[in-house]
Amino acid sequence: MTEGIDSLRAGLVQACRELAQTGLVVGSAGNVSARAGDRLLVTPTGARLAAVAEDELAVVDLDGTLVDGPLLPTSELPLHLAVYRSFDAGAVVHTHPPMATAVAGVADELPCIHYTLLSLGGNVRVAPYATFGTDELAATIVDALQERTAALMGGHGAVTYGADIAAAMAATQLLEWACGVYVHACACGTPRVLDDQQRRVVAEALATYGAPVRVPSAPLP
Ligand SMILES: [Zn+2]
Repeated sequence: MTEGIDSLRAGLVQACRELAQTGLVVGSAGNVSARAGDRLLVTPTGARLAAVAEDELAVVDLDGTLVDGPLLPTSELPLHLAVYRSFDAGAVVHTHPPMATAVAGVADELPCIHYTLLSLGGNVRVAPYATFGTDELAATIVDALQERTAALMGGHGAVTYGADIAAAMAATQLLEWACGVYVHACACGTPRVLDDQQRRVVAEALATYGAPVRVPSAPLP
């Protein structure tokens, strides 16, 4: 029963390449997963995301037991499992992006300094440091992700999730961009944070923002 999982392989490998090419991970850092039913497709431990192959990905069940694949799954498997158990996630992306990791090293949160952060839930919390690969780290991340699809990891990096790998990747890219904006803003002043009323209005608008809108007179395809 790997049919559903197999349909995710190409997209996961493409995401790995993109993360490496855009500098969101270096070397063997970072790991990615996607879910189909009660199976997860995850990057293998020690893999360089720039070069990971479709047939090197590991298939595990929701208890983390290896079901298929030639290599052991990522050492951050407890983190991925905890996110799937706690949230309605179709994919999880864990990276060490430079700007996000910088902010995670000094701040308690990325404040909501830009309206697009509301698509991640608003301000993004920094989870306290815990050793990589541990259940303790997984628990701190689940706490930080409450009502959010992104979290920063103190002394470590970032994690995002989404309905599918495209959504989880977009969340990681937005988070890294916003952290860069925040760092630049802090360098030249005190960043202004969106107030409650501004957030409410944007949250309502974002519910439909980005979806194609048909011109009323356009003929059906
Ligand atoms: Zn990591």
